[in-house]
Amino acid sequence: MTRRPITVSVDKLRRRRPEERPRKLPADERSCPRCQSHWRAEEMQRNLRVCATCGHHFPVGARERLDQLAEGRPWLELWPEMRASDPLQFVDLEPYPDRVDKAERAGATEALVVGELAVRDHPCVVAVMDFGYLGGSMGSVVGEKLARACDRCVERGLPLVCVTASGGARMQEGVIALMQMAKTIVGFELLRDAELPTIVVLAHPTTGGVWASFASVGDVTYAEPGALIAFSGPRVIEQTTREKLPPEFGRAETQLANGQVDAVVDRRELAGRIGKVLGILERPSGVAPAPAVTWAQEKAERAATVARNLPELSRRFVSRVRRPDEEDDR
Ligand SMILES: [Zn+2]
Repeated sequence: MTRRPITVSVDKLRRRRPEERPRKLPADERSCPRCQSHWRAEEMQRNLRVCATCGHHFPVGARERLDQLAEGRPWLELWPEMRASDPLQFVDLEPYPDRVDKAERAGATEALVVGELAVRDHPCVVAVMDFGYLGGSMGSVVGEKLARACDRCVERGLPLVCVTASGGARMQEGVIALMQMAKTIVGFELLRDAELPTIVVLAHPTTGGVWASFASVGDVTYAEPGALIAFSGPRVIEQTTREKLPPEFGRAETQLANGQVDAVVDRRELAGRIGKVLGILERPSGVAPAPAVTWAQEKAERAATVARNLPELSRRFVSRVRRPDEEDDR
């Protein structure tokens, strides 16, 4: 292994006089990183956290996003009481429960908030990820809430809308976090079997285990302008391959050009767009939603069919992998 020298320079810092430092803004005010326009807290909220000058999309908390999609109408939060446990007693730089406490003090209660609401008069279940809570990472609570949201959709015949913003699986929960990838996919499969639509909105950033599971299997997939959508972020890839990536790598517009998303939608048009799609895809009125019991029975029947056919399946598999010269031995 070759050791590379590390060079540290403080010249740049020394040259910078204190009065040149940018004025620190109050926590709820924002300066646009693209055009430097300054927005007060109430202006940010009114503009749905989009820069009115250049269209830069700022991050949005989960509950504020649900308010935006409900457009001022009340909505019902589902399972707000769920909290992560610490089965692995995980400690990195600090214990996992301390990180959870710190994130809770900042305002959010988990990285996924689920609500039942109507988007432009179309009732649906909306699951929104919060990047502000441990990087929007998917742990056991996120997986469980999303699976319950899928169950609720099936029980009530409602479509599911997901807004994702995540750094991937929650490393503090180890393999339990990775397991949520399969669990969420099973939830989406239930919706598919029940012929209920799923709409996924990819906000900045959607990466890792979330992009590699439910975020990429929606019936309709929208992305917000400039959002990073990739399994590994450009920094990780550059550090691994030691190659420079183009600036547009993994951006929503690139993913649209590559056919990974259906449209890049401005946040100010999002509620209207989702409402229109739900209007086209929702169940015709008068058709009763199938009760959950029916689906459970169908699942059991399907499992029984697979079990009955197992010996047959393995015989077919063996015959496929057997070499041609073995055919004569039979
Ligand atoms: Zn701007």
